[in-house]
Parts: sequence; C-alpha cells; structure tokens
Amino acid sequence: MAFFLLFGTIGLPELLIILIILLLLFGAAKLPQLGGALGKTVKSFKKEMKEDKPTSKCPKCESEVEEDEDFCPKCGEKLK
Ligand SMILES: [Zn+2]
Repeated sequence: MAFFLLFGTIGLPELLIILIILLLLFGAAKLPQLGGALGKTVKSFKKEMKEDKPTSKCPKCESEVEEDEDFCPKCGEKLK
C-alpha cells in the first residue's frame, strides 16, 4: 500500500496511535473527508516534487521530458 511506503519509517503501532488520535480529534464521521484532504496534499506534494525535477526537451517531438527518462514518453525517441 502506497501509504505504508510513504511512511516507511513509521511502524504499525505508531500508525494505530496516529489513527486513534485522528479519530479523537476529528471524529469517525469526518475521517473520509480527512482522507480525501490528505490524499490531495500528498498529490500536490508529489506534483511539486515532479516539477522540481530537471527537464529537457525531446529532440524529435520537442515535448518536455524528465532528465532521468531514457525514452521520450510521447514519441519513444531514445534520449540517451
Ligand atoms: Zn519525443
């Protein structure tokens, strides 16, 4: 599960404690909302990480590709 990979250094007991604290703070009814908000936060965070990556241009189709990409995702041109 992606959630566990994200918090790889936190063990299951810690996760349970966090969950219990969240339950106490927000109440069980609001948890799905909270999950959605958390998902959005993670998503935008990942997006920012992606935007920080150096990009270069594909020599064939001129679309922006990530620097560590071996092939252009659009036209399949070899970049390295
Ligand atoms: Zn290309």
